[in-house]
Amino acid sequence: MKVLKFGGTSVGSAKNINKVINILNKYAQKDTIACVVSAIGGITDKLLLAGKLAQNKDVNFKDTFNTIKNIHFDIINELNPDNNNSILEYVETKLSELENLLNGIYLINELSPKTSDKLVSFGELLSSFIIAETMKNRKLSAERKNSQDIIITNSDFTKAEVNYSITNTNIESYFKTANHKVTILPGFISNSQSGEQTTLGRGGSDFTAAIIAAALKVEQLEIWTDVSGMFTTNPKLVKQAYPIDKISYQEAMELSHFGAKVLYPPTVQPVLDLDIPIHIKNTMKPDAVGTVISNDKTNSTSPVKGISNIGNISLLTLQGSGMIGIPGFSKRLFETLSQEKINIILITQASSEHSICLGVEQKDAEMAKSAVDTAFENEIALNKIDPIIIESNLSIIALVGDNMKNHQGISGKMFSTLGKNNINIRAIAQGASEKNISAVIAESDVKKALNTLHEQFFESKTKQLNVFITGVGNVGERLVEQIKQQRKYLKENLKINLRVIGLANSRTMVFNEDGIDLKNWKEQVANGEKATLEGFFEKTKSLNLRNSIFVDVTANKDVAGLYANYLRQSIGVVACNKIACSSDYENYKLLKRLSLKYNAPYLFETNVGAGLPIIDTLNNLIASGDKITSIQAVLSGSLNFVFNNFNDSTKFYDVVKQAAAEGYTEPDPRIDLSGVDVARKILILARESGVKMNLEDISNASFLSDSGLKSNSVDDFYQTLIDDENHYQNLFASAKTNNCQLKYVAQFNEGKANVGLQEIPEGHPFYNLEGKDNIVMFYTQRYPEQPMIIKGAGAGADVTASGLFADIIRIGND
Ligand code: ADP
Ligand code: ASP
Ligand code: MG
Repeated sequence: MKVLKFGGTSVGSAKNINKVINILNKYAQKDTIACVVSAIGGITDKLLLAGKLAQNKDVNFKDTFNTIKNIHFDIINELNPDNNNSILEYVETKLSELENLLNGIYLINELSPKTSDKLVSFGELLSSFIIAETMKNRKLSAERKNSQDIIITNSDFTKAEVNYSITNTNIESYFKTANHKVTILPGFISNSQSGEQTTLGRGGSDFTAAIIAAALKVEQLEIWTDVSGMFTTNPKLVKQAYPIDKISYQEAMELSHFGAKVLYPPTVQPVLDLDIPIHIKNTMKPDAVGTVISNDKTNSTSPVKGISNIGNISLLTLQGSGMIGIPGFSKRLFETLSQEKINIILITQASSEHSICLGVEQKDAEMAKSAVDTAFENEIALNKIDPIIIESNLSIIALVGDNMKNHQGISGKMFSTLGKNNINIRAIAQGASEKNISAVIAESDVKKALNTLHEQFFESKTKQLNVFITGVGNVGERLVEQIKQQRKYLKENLKINLRVIGLANSRTMVFNEDGIDLKNWKEQVANGEKATLEGFFEKTKSLNLRNSIFVDVTANKDVAGLYANYLRQSIGVVACNKIACSSDYENYKLLKRLSLKYNAPYLFETNVGAGLPIIDTLNNLIASGDKITSIQAVLSGSLNFVFNNFNDSTKFYDVVKQAAAEGYTEPDPRIDLSGVDVARKILILARESGVKMNLEDISNASFLSDSGLKSNSVDDFYQTLIDDENHYQNLFASAKTNNCQLKYVAQFNEGKANVGLQEIPEGHPFYNLEGKDNIVMFYTQRYPEQPMIIKGAGAGADVTASGLFADIIRIGND
């Protein structure tokens, strides 16, 4: 004998019912079968909705009733196109009883728990009848047996308790005499001893099957559903979740108790003592292995078996200095809640006993508050305790595993993982058995929390990075292309799953929570929604993905102004835009502080030498205890390009134009040529060396002509380059006479910094600097004479993009 149960989705359409019948038919070749079925998917909810509408005097209950009716008729007709009279006759009778009941509820506008049970019972009564009769029509040996005749309970409507002695006898005696192959039984529904219709609680069909399996002492109970087993976490919320092959009864109970809906929590009870394994299988993929729940020791290496979550939780906090002195405080509190039939899902008590927190279902919160406030009326009046505080829109997430108790540091890892992602924990509870650690968090953080924890405990090998790029112009475009090319490599070699979630240029933006397909990203951006900086931030924030990184590939002041907002959401910032780092010192410091506080990296390697690892090296020197004494550098790839190409046979204007055309200058070339850009760079290096400095503190001896310095627009500026050619030729001639090269040099020494054009003599490390190269020489306590030198291309879209990319990977490797 085998006991199988099929859930709502499994019997949710004619197509799926055919799958169920095929499975039953196959099993029936070898065995007799007790098959428990749920109502057709969604019908229980619709019955309750119709009831609520009727109770509220809303005539729309009739529409819901008609929907219920049509769903059933459609399925019957599709399953039995030729021969459905006997089925229709029964179903019509039942539906008219249902209609009468709804009309009754409408008339008296009352829906008691007792009536509600009567109402929802129609779902399973109809589905079981339709399935059994369809099988009979197909000449299969099947009968429907109404569970209400055999499963007997007390009168706690909506979640009645089973009377096992009567129920077990009924089940045994029925199956002793049953002489057909397949018995179809409605799940969830039962009768009280006095013959009233009762139910076993929402999701209770699993339980019905377990009761039957235990009464018949079968070898195995099979629960067939719409997923391939019990997953490491809710597969609807975490794509990477996967089915667990084997799990203990305790683990399954904990997971289901904390929200793994795939198994109704009480289901384990009846089969546990008899050691009957529960096999969870997928009706849509009958060949998938599924999950076996049993006492067998599992060979899993991970101490954490699964993560579950329950939504719609409220936290009730009771506190007050007088709590310690109140005799039997806890007893009174729990008794009060129990009298109101309020289920407490989680309890935490501060060791000082000054406060106690209870997690309850949100729907019970107000009732709980009023009951407890009334029970402790006197103590509240005497200011011994405060009235209950309710916090709502919360969720509980729980890590579950029998072996967690043998491993240290799991809760530490859990909380630091959540903390790193800016997920605030409102309360924590750990059972004494240490099979479960649960935390209460905001409902809006659940998806992120489950995904991060899943990554931490089940996919420790890969880390997902979610990147949002603003400014997909020249450099940004190269960055996206580089990411596209390297994604596979990063996954395979660095175990980084780099996903681009958002892309924007100044006009349009596009987002895809599952990662933008980079094959045609340009088209997607072009067809995206209208871009705004705020809109981009809001969307990034609302997606609330773990390890989110905002990448600023603009030179825009307003974009830089939003970094603090990103960091405050624990979203990392990677920027080639140097405005923020070279802005007012207080702002630079604020961003650094926010980065630490919110555990959100703020990296800007490209601010100084494009792809050259200048800041990283500087940070490493300092972190390892070295001290910077002086920095000598040529930091402007653009100025270097200009002075390396400018001579007495070229024109200054032409060289600058060429530098701009090749992307070596900022969009406004004055920023480079005035030396401001270099000054910003040395400022950033000085600040990163630990010095408090502002841009005004840096002396800048500009080489531009007066009119060049005063020009009001980019066009005017270019004109002055033509007009003042002589001025620039003189600079060249002087250097030539002195056998020197012109280099724009930045220096930092004894806490002071300056920038300016210098004539560099032969033999100096700067003399042979070619093209757009940069060079930085760090003199430190450990490098007092021979400096640490970093040299290489310091400008250009490709190297800047690769510098940004390196910052992103730095975060991934963290
Ligand atoms: P049925 O109608 O077959 O009883 P349910 O909807 O009650 O099915 O339960 C199956 C659903 O449980 C899945 O579709 C999935 O969305 C949800 N679920 C939540 N947590 C888990 C988990 N850890 N493993 C598998 N499914 C889960
Ligand atoms: N039909 C019931 C419900 O939706 C019982 C079940 O499907 O398990 O809750
Ligand atoms: Mg279910």
